Amino acid sequence: MMSGISTIVTGAGSGIGRAIAERLGADGYRVLVNDLSLERAETVAAGIRSRGGAAVAFAGDVSSEADSASIHTAAVKAHGTVGLLVNNAGIAHQALFENLEVHDFDRMFAVHVRGTFLMTKAVLGPMLAAGKGSIVNIASQLGQIGGIELAHYSGAKAAIIGMTKSLAREVSSRGVRVNVVAPGPINTPLVMELSREWRERKKSELPLGRFGEPEEVAATVAFLASDEASLFVGQTLGPNSGDVML
Ligand code: NAP
Repeated sequence: MMSGISTIVTGAGSGIGRAIAERLGADGYRVLVNDLSLERAETVAAGIRSRGGAAVAFAGDVSSEADSASIHTAAVKAHGTVGLLVNNAGIAHQALFENLEVHDFDRMFAVHVRGTFLMTKAVLGPMLAAGKGSIVNIASQLGQIGGIELAHYSGAKAAIIGMTKSLAREVSSRGVRVNVVAPGPINTPLVMELSREWRERKKSELPLGRFGEPEEVAATVAFLASDEASLFVGQTLGPNSGDVML
């Protein structure tokens, strides 16, 4: 059990983020559950509290500078200096490169890259001042191998991996560990937005023969966040059913 570490999980009203918030709440972290929808965030936070954990809900868009600062302030107010940030908020959209619109590209990079940047900026100063902290960024295996109709998504996820490695080089000697989880296909509402053809083809390609469950990604996050992962710095772990082997 981790003793009451103040934690932010973004996009935690659904899917993988929800499972991460619930797992960390059960492990004794004190969790700020962020989502665009306050209602969904509050449902997750209430569930954690009903099982004896500590959690608050806070709505906000991670791609907004003002909202990212408010999310951080709310976490500090509720649970003290943030010791763990999980940048999970994300969106899905598919189009061939030749059909991608500039606004599709901008939104994809705003939520994933700008959101991860802004939330990290918000927590980093206090973490460095405290001399400890952990940041886990949720990318995707598509950031490692690319994907048809997913150039903007894959590009954004690759940017998260590069940004994480650079930050890890800068801050790990000062007590802050930064790592990436790059899941393969996971059964969540986001993956259901992708075409049936994509899902059927992807499933047939997987050595494990099945998509992952959100709880299986949450277990990877719980490991990277914990002191058991003390030697993991700027790493990308892949709970991906064997789709990508590095
Ligand atoms: P999900 O079920 O759609 O959950 C994503 C959550 O993020 C939603 O609750 C969404 O709110 C929220 N969100 C979206 N934009 C946000 C913003 N700007 N600020 C705050 N919250 C925001 O998707 P998921 O599958 O769990 O995905 C979670 C993360 O895992 C994403 O980063 C995704 O790219 C990554 N991932 C997923 C898979 C997969 O196969 N599912 C694989 C690899 C990586 P709304 O629903 O209200 O928009």
